[in-house]
Amino acid sequence: MRVVVVGHGMAATRFVEELTGNSAGVEVTVLGGEPRGSYNRVLLTSVLAGDYPRDGIWTHDAGWYRDRGVTVRDGIQVTGIDRAASLVTGADGSRFGYDRLVLATGGVPNVPPVAGLRADRSGGLLAGCHTFQTLADCEALLADARHARRAVVVGGGVLGLEVARALSERGPTVRVVHRSGALMDAQLDPDGAAVLRRTVDELGIGCHLSTVARAVAGRDRVTGVVLDSGSTLDCDLLVVACGIKPDTALATGAELATRRGVLVDDAMRSVTDQRVLAIGDCAEHRGRAYGLVEPAFEQAAVAARTVLAGAPGRYSGSRTVTRLKARGVELASMGEVAPEPYDEDGVEVVKLIDPARGRYVKLVIRNGRLVGAVALGDADVAASVTVAYDRRSILPPDRVRLLSGGEQPGTDPADLSDATAVCRCNAVTAGQIRTSAGRGARSVAAVARETKATTGCGSCRSAVAALLAARPAQRAAPNRRRCTLSDDRCDEERVPGGRT
Ligand SMILES: Cc1cc2nc3c(=O)[nH]c(=O)nc-3n(C[C@H](O)[C@H](O)[C@H](O)COP(=O)(O)OP(=O)(O)OC[C@H]3O[C@@H](n4cnc5c(N)ncnc54)[C@H](O)[C@@H]3O)c2cc1C
Repeated sequence: MRVVVVGHGMAATRFVEELTGNSAGVEVTVLGGEPRGSYNRVLLTSVLAGDYPRDGIWTHDAGWYRDRGVTVRDGIQVTGIDRAASLVTGADGSRFGYDRLVLATGGVPNVPPVAGLRADRSGGLLAGCHTFQTLADCEALLADARHARRAVVVGGGVLGLEVARALSERGPTVRVVHRSGALMDAQLDPDGAAVLRRTVDELGIGCHLSTVARAVAGRDRVTGVVLDSGSTLDCDLLVVACGIKPDTALATGAELATRRGVLVDDAMRSVTDQRVLAIGDCAEHRGRAYGLVEPAFEQAAVAARTVLAGAPGRYSGSRTVTRLKARGVELASMGEVAPEPYDEDGVEVVKLIDPARGRYVKLVIRNGRLVGAVALGDADVAASVTVAYDRRSILPPDRVRLLSGGEQPGTDPADLSDATAVCRCNAVTAGQIRTSAGRGARSVAAVARETKATTGCGSCRSAVAALLAARPAQRAAPNRRRCTLSDDRCDEERVPGGRT
């Protein structure tokens, strides 16, 4: 069977891993539009911040694919699908026949219609203006940021704030322009957003909320951003970070049904053509296009089962946790965070608001189970509420202890049952990490090599370190400490004698 994969990003790479782990008689060809192969896109903001080495983000080298008999053609933009003839065409005229076609084309940045932003009719941006989606974008921004004194980021969502924080660590003063009255309004309720704003202000990043960028000033290069108020923010660097939209261009051209993304069934097959599958940021399943890596990986695994087994795999949607990767801001948001139905039967909303210390915790509990939470300003609380959310078990009656990060039975990473997922992106359980440690893995990096834990969004590094620190001989030790190292140090350092 010939399987052609369009796109060589995170979903495609995971699909190939799943497929080649279990396949015989499958001929796989991967066609990637970016020139240099597959990398962990999630780490780009860490590269921008200087927290992660650029050459540490690659996923697999050519040898890995060769060993698995996978043909990879990077730098080929697929321009058309001929479903009747079962082949795809590349921009260079090359053609590839398929029995199954997997679309993993990801997303494209939303670029709002700001006057003067586009430099020419071809759509390129004015010098000094950037989007932030690919490694090439990251490298271009890094080069420009070296000389920049004043940067403006348009967009105060997750990506905008991560970029703003990363840039601010590199020197320029940074201001964020956000259309909504609240930062990260898709993930936070108004109280949480207000505390976040204060935290961001204290980091020296100015926020212009309920503000629209109307025009970019500058003839050959950006010199400022004109706001809807009429005032201008002077800048020599501008980043547009207004989210992404699924890239459905190929699917639409091939008359596959799309809405926001390519419409797929529970087996990740196009609802129009069962020989075409779509996964990751380009796919829309049951009305949701996630734009996150954990669902992309889950969908890739289901798609591989569908292709291999002949019997369709089954994807029923993902429960997602969003974490902000910005130094000095610990923030996790998950599930239902908006509702305030204090008097709805079975619903409890418990909050701690401490703006002076940059802390905000909100728990939404339905019938005794955590169905949504925001944890801002405290890494331990973020870790324990994420665990409580994942476990879906009945919470202990004392909710206030969870708010304050006090010890909660079963929510310290080291106390997790073997079945609990620790690395949500890669579905690695606490049991698998303990097994890996038992087989000799002594560092987070070693566990990552063996299990893939931490290689998605990376937010589980401290939990993996805590599990390593609590290897059996030490598990009963009193006064066990959680890992308090930064993610990077956790990744590099061994965890000697059960302590971090
Ligand atoms: C800076 C940044 C930080 C992020 N941080 C997080 C995070 O912390 N947590 C999280 O869950 N998610 C995060 N995300 C989102 C996450 O990276 C995506 O959800 C994930 O990459 C989706 O994988 P994908 O394969 O669907 O798309 P992508 O990884 O975007 O890959 C799509 C690939 O397809 C290629 N392609 C498109 N069209 C064609 C064509 N016609 N022919 C050939 N190739 C084509 C593209 O060039 C691209 O290489 C982040 C994204 C960015 C940009």
